[in-house]
Amino acid sequence: MIIHLNNFADKTKAEELGRHYEAICMHDGKQYVLITSSKLKEADASLKALASAIFVTDSDIQLAGKQYMPDTRSIDLGVLTIGGKTANTVVITGPCSVESEEQIEQAAQLCVELGVKVLRAGAYKPRTSPYTFQGLGLDGLKLLDKMRSKYGLKIITEVRDSTHVDEVIEYADIVQIGAKAMYDQGILRKCGKSNRSILIKRGFGSTLQEFVQAAEFVLSSGNPNVMLCERGIRTFETKTRFTLDLCGVAWLKQYTNLPVILDPSHAIGYAYGVADLSRACVAMGVDGLLIETHPNPKVAKSDAEQQLNFEQFRALHKSLDAVEATVGRKIV
Ligand code: PEP
Ligand code: MN
Repeated sequence: MIIHLNNFADKTKAEELGRHYEAICMHDGKQYVLITSSKLKEADASLKALASAIFVTDSDIQLAGKQYMPDTRSIDLGVLTIGGKTANTVVITGPCSVESEEQIEQAAQLCVELGVKVLRAGAYKPRTSPYTFQGLGLDGLKLLDKMRSKYGLKIITEVRDSTHVDEVIEYADIVQIGAKAMYDQGILRKCGKSNRSILIKRGFGSTLQEFVQAAEFVLSSGNPNVMLCERGIRTFETKTRFTLDLCGVAWLKQYTNLPVILDPSHAIGYAYGVADLSRACVAMGVDGLLIETHPNPKVAKSDAEQQLNFEQFRALHKSLDAVEATVGRKIV
């Protein structure tokens, strides 16, 4: 249950009520808000007396749920808005990892050429093997920062673990919490204490309920700027790297108020299918697309097989025009 407290509840009173009802107490910019377990279905008289609004929720998908907030939340990046009342499908592209200044600068130039406003690349890579390229770390973040100032791009980069979460929050415009970090409550809570935009990728073995509850950790810590990213889940299928869960995307759109970004690159794991999947994603009316591109995918230090070369990306980007027009979206 979510309870908006009225003006008679100051910080001390709100926190005291939070303790009494075993609720999280936060301030949402307008008022103090208590969030109890969703098992509580009715407020007692003394709580009702202090409430300006009460929302009963079916499950612990609470702040992220449409029962609480029917409209999609809006993420304001200054140069563009994701979600909200826009029909924007924001294209985000760049390599899996920052590898060198030359490589990331080529990616930044591709963004400028095509009017793409958000550059992606990982500096701290959550690799499956400790013996492969782990990312350039802080040097990678500095290169991304340089591209932001030089080309006026927004930067999304991932946090791998809690040792560098402050660093990533400082450098990124959007902090990506990767599929393997989705359950890390240290990261989620830290991101919740900042006001940076946060993109949470779905763990490949996570249910939709678990996925959205990860977002609840960020939202209930006070940060409303959260997006979800479907990037494929593990199924019995082995021909593709993962399976892009478009049914899950339909569910997220129906029941949550968070913008949904799709990542076809990690889902299929092979460059050949990324363009078809991207068009399918835009046709579903999603809020953004995250696509890996590399000036020379063959020599990429991570995720080489799924990254598009620039020619492939230009063709894909152009092919989205017809889809956006048909489904009433706007590619930005
Ligand atoms: C990535 O975006 O490069 C990445 C590692 O993604 P995921 O966390 O979805 O595997
Ligand atoms: Mn990758």
